[in-house]
Amino acid sequence: MLLLLGFFFTQNGSMSQLYRNAYYSGSATKLSQLPGDDGYEVAFAGRSNAGKSSAINTITGIGSLARTSKTPGRTQMINFFHLDEQRALVDLPGYGYAKVPEAMKHKWQATLAQYLEKRQSLRGLMLMMDIRHPLKEFDLQMLTWANQASLPVHILLTKSDKLKHGAAKAAMLDVQKKLRQAELEASVQLFSSLNKSGRDEAVSKLDQWFEVDALLAQE
Ligand code: GDP
Repeated sequence: MLLLLGFFFTQNGSMSQLYRNAYYSGSATKLSQLPGDDGYEVAFAGRSNAGKSSAINTITGIGSLARTSKTPGRTQMINFFHLDEQRALVDLPGYGYAKVPEAMKHKWQATLAQYLEKRQSLRGLMLMMDIRHPLKEFDLQMLTWANQASLPVHILLTKSDKLKHGAAKAAMLDVQKKLRQAELEASVQLFSSLNKSGRDEAVSKLDQWFEVDALLAQE
């Protein structure tokens, strides 16, 4: 068994296999449809086109998951991808749907805010922002709700391959500075689904939130 676990570890000590196990396990349009609130969840959020589906795909290594979230009818649902019985990646609906009526947007916002504030299983929020367009209104709103709920936030500055290394680093420093100025708490990293850079760093944050150490101790 130990040998097998050793096999699952990558060089940075994360259990990559856990993420490769991800499978679509259901969707909810309202909080009453969520599964039992007794495991570990990490929510993924971002404006539409931020690269959220690609990031979920890169982290799990499963292309079909991204497609699942984009299935018509599911783009405005909370989609669950379980990794094991206790742990799930939760894909929150993106924003920027021009055709969604205002009233519906407000209803969604209320649902999202409640999910972030009330969900016991929720251990962290991964917020995807296109490195060229960070900290838009939706992002600030998510950060504010998460901070109010004392929920840790980790920001992936996606599509970092679009900028040269120095410019990407400068963009990250600028985001960190703006967060400090706005008194918003979040860790930040560069991420690219195109060249997979930043994957290990994102996975170690997930490992921490999912308490993968505790999982290994049980084995
Ligand atoms: P979502 O709407 O947030 O789920 O965004 P998607 O993951 O569908 O990505 C939106 C667009 O950005 C697609 O055309 C992707 O191919 C592209 N994209 C996503 N991630 C990256 C990346 O890391 N690098 C580059 N160059 N393009 C990306």
